[in-house]
Amino acid sequence: MQHGFENITVLSGGMGGAKFLQGLLHGISSGSLPGVSPDARVTVVANTADDIWVHGLKVCPDLDTVMYTLGDGIDLERGWGRRDEGWKVKDELAAYGVEPTWFGLGDRDVATHLVRTQMLDAGYPLSQVTEALCRRWLAPTVGDRVRLLPMTDDRVETHVAVRDEESPSGRRVIHFQEYWIRLRASVPAETVLFVGLEDATAGPGVVDAITDADLVVLPPSNPVVSVGTILGVPRVREAVAATRAPVVGLSPIIGTSHVRGMAEQMLTSIGVEVSAAGVGLHYGARSAGGVLDGWLVDSSDADQVARLQAGGLAAAAAPLWMTDHDATAAMAAAAIGLVS
Ligand code: GDP
Ligand code: CA
Repeated sequence: MQHGFENITVLSGGMGGAKFLQGLLHGISSGSLPGVSPDARVTVVANTADDIWVHGLKVCPDLDTVMYTLGDGIDLERGWGRRDEGWKVKDELAAYGVEPTWFGLGDRDVATHLVRTQMLDAGYPLSQVTEALCRRWLAPTVGDRVRLLPMTDDRVETHVAVRDEESPSGRRVIHFQEYWIRLRASVPAETVLFVGLEDATAGPGVVDAITDADLVVLPPSNPVVSVGTILGVPRVREAVAATRAPVVGLSPIIGTSHVRGMAEQMLTSIGVEVSAAGVGLHYGARSAGGVLDGWLVDSSDADQVARLQAGGLAAAAAPLWMTDHDATAAMAAAAIGLVS
């Protein structure tokens, strides 16, 4: 294709999305993606429903994971937070006995949250704060090839209801971060609540980034608490359904479980079959009122392709383990090949 995709928009969560983005950028610059211009630009619309106020600081886990990953500041082993991190602040807070003690607030990371909180206090919206933070992280590494947009400037938080025998109602609603970090998603999430989502406004540039894109990609991010929340922002799902750009996604589920993370627990709680086809059909084909044109599943799930095709999706199977940038770029190439 001569005039390929120039503008790619990715709806991303944290770790899964960030890893995918690294491979996508690698594929773009090496010219290995079908129909994609080597000068293509990527707009990342990131989930902000994981955001939490901790010790008076506004923490945005998914924005920061994408920013630190693409900015080469991420701790590669943990997959979140800063490399060469220290924990003196956390230890001091624990010595005071102040809650929450389960949240991993690293010394280097704190600086990011201080800058963000100060700017928010001064009246800047999260989108402008993010742009300012990205000047440090993205400008030197990916330059203007990547733009990072929060899905909304409004406060949206995912909360989870869990069983609690000690509570009069028999259940307790906690922030998603507490469910994930303190409880390690080890108990069933009876309900997932997206506080503030219905009343949120899409962040500046978000709807246009989808409408004006040449290609929209749903990376293998959590379909409920990452991509699901982005799609839940009013006008975003509609923009994805209506864009002239093809929309393609990659399965975060391989076999009957997620690769890393907690997609399994979240899908179960909203009653979606935990399988690559289950997630693809949950998103649905745009021809049938959904948000996807194509859906890529792992090679081991090749037997689910026919079911996806019957649901109106272009579907295929390819290795979906993001083991290194080459493997992830090959995943992106296979996904894009489905719709180009
Ligand atoms: P989070 O916000 O940090 O939870 O990250 P995301 O929502 O962006 O992505 C989390 C999802 O990525 C998990 O539910 C995993 O299923 C998925 N994931 C992580 N690594 C891989 C991988 O190598 N291959 C695939 N297909 N999915 C992955
Ligand atoms: Ca997340």
